[in-house]
Amino acid sequence: MLYLDITGKASRRRCRDVIEWFKAKYLPNHHLDITVSHRGLKREAAMGFCTVMDCDHRPREFLIEMETTLSVDDYISTLLHELWHVYQHVKGTLRDKRGVRHWKDVDANHLSYDEQPWEHEARTMEEILYKDYMGIKENRNMFHNRLTGS
Ligand SMILES: [Zn+2]
Repeated sequence: MLYLDITGKASRRRCRDVIEWFKAKYLPNHHLDITVSHRGLKREAAMGFCTVMDCDHRPREFLIEMETTLSVDDYISTLLHELWHVYQHVKGTLRDKRGVRHWKDVDANHLSYDEQPWEHEARTMEEILYKDYMGIKENRNMFHNRLTGS
């Protein structure tokens, strides 16, 4: 089950399509409540944020914040990056225990952005997910065009 709330200036259809694709593939059995808020993040020097809104113990409610001025490609890969953080929180590899960030149950609060293993993983995954997501779109079209040709 997926409760999705999309606010701000963005293509609702694209946003929903990316999230539904991701959820069906990686978290099909989880109940998730996701709000995607599109706003200007440039002052914060970021393209996206992911925040747990309910409990640290069993997080299911998330706020994803997205920069409004991204190109379509950047938008899709940034959203997939933030969804990978959702995945890390749901699976429990990334956890905030009483405000202290843990990675695989080890205190990781002191790590700088470049050292954070969850960011390394999310940056690797955003490329894999992006190719996968776009590839499926292309294949769908190809299949359609060549339906009678094979
Ligand atoms: Zn990140």
